[in-house]
Formats: sequence, C-alpha cells, structure tokens
Amino acid sequence: MLAVQNLEVVYDDVVLALRGVSLAVPDGQVVALLGANGGGKSTLLRALSGLLDIHDGEIRKGTVTLDGDDISHLAASALARRGIKHVLEGRRVFKELTTDENLRVGAHADRRNLKANLERVHTLFPVLHERRDSPAGLLSGGEQQMLAIGRALMSDPRYLLLDEPSLGLAPKVVEQIRDIIVEINAQGTGILLVEQNAVMALSIAHHGYVLENGRVVMDRTAEQLREDADVREFYLGLG
Ligand code: ATP
Repeated sequence: MLAVQNLEVVYDDVVLALRGVSLAVPDGQVVALLGANGGGKSTLLRALSGLLDIHDGEIRKGTVTLDGDDISHLAASALARRGIKHVLEGRRVFKELTTDENLRVGAHADRRNLKANLERVHTLFPVLHERRDSPAGLLSGGEQQMLAIGRALMSDPRYLLLDEPSLGLAPKVVEQIRDIIVEINAQGTGILLVEQNAVMALSIAHHGYVLENGRVVMDRTAEQLREDADVREFYLGLG
C-alpha cells in the first residue's frame, strides 16, 4: 500500500501547501483525489513521486510510506524503480520523437521487458500502434494524453499517479481515457486519480478524498461521495 501520514509540504519555506494530509492508495484500487484549484492535489502527487524539490518544495512533517517503509526522501528515479509512476498534468511528450520512441524512453530502467510492455501499451491504445512512427507533436490532444499514460506504463508500475488526464479533452475522448484507466486498474495497477472532472473520477473510483486548502475534508468510499449532498452540489453539478 502507498500512503502518506500527516504530511506537511511547504514551498519556498513560506507557502504551506499541505497541512497534515493522510491518505492511502491500496494495491489494485482506484482512488480519486478531488478539490478546487490550489487545494494541494498536484503537490500531493509530487510528494509521492519525488518531484517536490524541482518546485522548491519540501516535506516539513509527516511521511510517505510504501508497504510501511519510509520512502519520503527518495528521489524520483528510485521511486520509479519501486513502481511509482507520475503522469504530469499537460500531456508532456517529446514532440520531435516518434510515438514509439517516446514509449521506449519510458522503458528506461526496464529494458528486459521492453517488447512485452510495448505490446501491452499497443494493445491498450491501438491508436498509438497505428501512429507509432508519427512525431508525437502531430498527435491530437487525446492521443498525446494516451501517449503520456502509455509511456508511464512502459515500466509496468505498481501505482500510477494521474494528474488531470481529462483536462481539455472532448467528452468522447474523456470516455476513452476513462475506459483505459479502468482496464489498467483491472490489470493490477493501483491508481491515484486527480481530476476536476469529478463525475468521471467517481464513476470509476473505489475510494475518494476531497482536499481543500491543504487539508482532507472528506475521506469516503466513492459511493458515499456520489451520494453526498455537498459533493453533488459542488463537484458533480447536480445540486
Ligand atoms: P491545481 O489544480 O490548480 O493544480 P492543486 O489542488 O493541484 O491545484 P497545488 O498546485 O498543489 O494545488 O497547489 C497548492 C498550493 O501550493 C497553492 O497555494 C499553490 O499556489 C502553491 N504552490 C504550488 N506549486 C508551487 C510552487 N512551485 N511554488 C510556490 N507555491 C506553489
């Protein structure tokens, strides 16, 4: 299980972005992380994947644990080797490289299983197979998002941290991404899903958290969140 306990994160020694957050991603589950802009969602993903220092952030209190081991101060590369992969917001792909070259970059530490992982990604995303020789910069927004996810899958992670995978995509493409997340999870990967699109996230999550101003204000099963009056009004637009 991947978890954080009582985590406090500060940027530039002044901005307290997380104020004592506890959260768990059990193996094989989809956990949704909801909340308004600035609540601390991206910060939490960075703390889990070792990317805080790139943003001048640091853990001031609390711990990040993997199966009970303290992994709070491991670098991103070490965390990736332990099976934690972060797909950043904004579909960052290498635009001049081809689709397949992007996927091969994602395999860095796991060259042994390159062929099998490439086949798995091509099966999950047939469009990436069709466009394998195209420069990634020529793919549509949805295809670039698929490529960003596919690249993370090339090291066969145990946990995938997804930051706003549906952002800016057409409803039909959001549905495709949603179905793929379900499939990746069914194949055994635990998923922490940050989403503005709470309808999509809660339709596939087992559990959910709402973060506001750096604090967890709700920690419930996805079913309970779907039925909660405040969640329906503020996050599902069903008020
Ligand atoms: P969004 O959806 O807008 O990304 P979020 O819930 O992911 O929101 P964070 O991006 O984690 O929230 O931001 C949490 C707080 O930390 C905000 O007050 C934000 O301004 C601040 N913050 C985030 N990144 C930095 C940074 N690199 N330097 C200073 N402050 C930061």
